[in-house]
Amino acid sequence: MSIYDLDLSSLEELVTSWDAPAYRAKQIWEGVYQHLYASWDEFTNLPTSLRVRMASEFSVEPLEPVARLESSDGQTQKTAFRLEDGQQIETVAMRYARRVTLCISSQAGCAMGCVFCATGQMGFRRHLSSGEIVAQVLHFARELKLKELKLTNIVVMGMGEPFHNYGNTMQAIDRLNDRAGFGFGARRFTISTVGLPDMIRRFADEKRQVNLAISLHAADDKTRSSMLPVNRKYDLEQVLAACKYYVAQTGRRITFEWALIDGLNDSVEQARALAARLRGLLCHVNAIPLNPTTGYSGKATSRERALLFKNELERAGIPCTVRLRRGIDIAAGCGQLAV
Ligand code: SF4
Repeated sequence: MSIYDLDLSSLEELVTSWDAPAYRAKQIWEGVYQHLYASWDEFTNLPTSLRVRMASEFSVEPLEPVARLESSDGQTQKTAFRLEDGQQIETVAMRYARRVTLCISSQAGCAMGCVFCATGQMGFRRHLSSGEIVAQVLHFARELKLKELKLTNIVVMGMGEPFHNYGNTMQAIDRLNDRAGFGFGARRFTISTVGLPDMIRRFADEKRQVNLAISLHAADDKTRSSMLPVNRKYDLEQVLAACKYYVAQTGRRITFEWALIDGLNDSVEQARALAARLRGLLCHVNAIPLNPTTGYSGKATSRERALLFKNELERAGIPCTVRLRRGIDIAAGCGQLAV
């Protein structure tokens, strides 16, 4: 079992059931999350008997890196990990000067089937446990520590739909957020969802400080359903009603993701239709020219058209950023992760 699947209280219960004092759990917690130990041998403050027992039952590196690719500019790295049951996932680290953003996976594969996404094209394998989500972060945190760098942001935008694996994803975030451990601020996390209204409402009710991004991609149901099959179940009106609820409950701004696809959703008319849908909502649009995948023939919008789209939205009072594509040469961009 992975040590990252335990929270502090279960760890305390465990060590006390082994007749060790509860403070040993705190020492283990600090070793794992503050000192980022990668081997039980490093827990020299624990009695040997406890260390040996922990090592026999819990792994501190449950993910086996099986492949690693680096983009030609050296700024994006993608790592494929094999999980204990043989499933594989991918995690991407992106460097921007001294800032490092990690894009983590919440599932092996994905059930949502978005047509332009390589993960969607591979289908659903299984949910990741909270520990498997946490372990991706710890793996990279240790690597960065060796380079005297720290993670600055975590986006749950890799393989999988995090709101389809809601409980484990939130447990992982809570574990990483714990001040007595890794202490990663809630506001430095972003969860990206295809837009499952019930889960957006639940997330709103929990009043978390975590940022929320919704993959919108189209301003009419016909176009959106052709790209995101989930739209046939939850249409734009339902998704946007949940978004309004979220903003009303939390006062927080939503980011809408928009993969710009040549001739499909990148026209000035689409920008106007989108602006009409979003009017009055505290939000921001992140537009990114589509990243290519072998299973989808759509092409990326040109920079010129992307800027026209952005200008039209901004004219209507909706802030918009056209993002740079990152890691395309190693298939590490949004929607390109598959094993
Ligand atoms: S875009 Fe996200 S939700 Fe859609 S198939 Fe890909 S991983 Fe799943």
